Amino acid sequence: MIYKRSSALFAEAEKVIPGGVNSPVRAFKGVGGTPIFVKEAKGAYLFDEDGNRLIDYINSWGPMILGHAFKPVVDAVVEKAQKGTSFGMPTEIETKIAELAVSMVPNIDKIRFVNSGTEACMSAVRLARGFTGKDKIIKFAGCYHGHSDSFLIQAGSGASTFGTPNSPGVTKGTAKDTLLANYNDIENVKAIIEANKNEIACIIIEPVAGNMGCVPPKESFLQGLRSVCDQNNILLIFDEVMTGFRLAKGGAQELFGIKADIVCFGKVIGGGLPVGAFAASHEIMDYLAPVGPVYQAGTLSGNPLAMAAGLAMLTELNNNVSIFDSINEKTEYLHKGITKVLNDNKVVHTINRVGSMISVHFDKGEVYDFNTAGKGNNDTFKKFFHGLLNEGIYIAPSAFETWFITEALTFEDLDFTINAINKVAKAL
Ligand code: PMP
Repeated sequence: MIYKRSSALFAEAEKVIPGGVNSPVRAFKGVGGTPIFVKEAKGAYLFDEDGNRLIDYINSWGPMILGHAFKPVVDAVVEKAQKGTSFGMPTEIETKIAELAVSMVPNIDKIRFVNSGTEACMSAVRLARGFTGKDKIIKFAGCYHGHSDSFLIQAGSGASTFGTPNSPGVTKGTAKDTLLANYNDIENVKAIIEANKNEIACIIIEPVAGNMGCVPPKESFLQGLRSVCDQNNILLIFDEVMTGFRLAKGGAQELFGIKADIVCFGKVIGGGLPVGAFAASHEIMDYLAPVGPVYQAGTLSGNPLAMAAGLAMLTELNNNVSIFDSINEKTEYLHKGITKVLNDNKVVHTINRVGSMISVHFDKGEVYDFNTAGKGNNDTFKKFFHGLLNEGIYIAPSAFETWFITEALTFEDLDFTINAINKVAKAL
């Protein structure tokens, strides 16, 4: 495939945008080469500036659960845009999407909309601190909760890809309040709580980790967290930015039957527009300004275009819950197909999958935390990535990312992908 125009556009971008990208994970730093510039997208396909068609397994990092340019979302945005793009005043549609989200997700009474997953997680932690009157938080190595200071301690995703899991610019004062635990290690969490008695406001976790590749929670791990939180007056925050409205209508809480105290959303909830949200019981949410003392705000929060896109997306998912089974089935088909061709070609690997989140690690051991996720062979991953790109298949340019399956993929697309992986695997 030819990427001449993408390369030229990247060279121009680098002159005026740091690294040529507005978010580091888009750069091909971990795999080499230059990023692909997208011209447009429809359904399961991306069309780049050189005229290549790519099957998309990133889907804007998750939101395009029903495919790119999904008509009800596009129509809703166009219709709203003609009536004004922002007011900074209340609109009826904010209540409509809030009502729908609250009806779909277990254990939440109220929700506040923000503009990104980062804002959602950052605000959720502030709320937890305000509500409990405690300062420290527990996060897990390899989990990513956005780029707010408290979270850039052993963060996953781009922070891991670029080898800077602890960012300069985060003060020691901030870092000392973030306690780091090992994913899937309840004894480690208990020990940290014991060593910081009555100081921990919340535990924040990706209930299925998606930012060190896909790492599922071990059986009873989430239940273990719930119990230690209850015993120690700690709030449990589920960062469902990836899992929300994807693993089930009610996200990971519904899938695993575990109650979180605060839930964070992003991606699907905005239908591809910049939206995040956090939600909890009345009691916790009413701790927020203007009714409560914890301040949180946003000029563009609840923006009418973003709310229209999100409402159209959630309405579709709520009215047609078979979509969740369908994307799971497609992902399982892909899982089986990849396993077969990698085994046929004797490529050492481990595949992790939960529902429609899947990732391939090039190592044979079980991948259950940040340490085991880091053992994958990055040279193999680089070849795999570029081999697939050459076959017209776009996966995330880092082994620390998850593939997001969209309902727009057909079984023909999946077969095409599996065949392409077979070809690529022969050369690994
Ligand atoms: N939480 C999780 C689990 C995420 O995966 C991400 C982003 N990928 C975020 C938070 C941050 O979201 P945003 O990039 O919209 O700020």
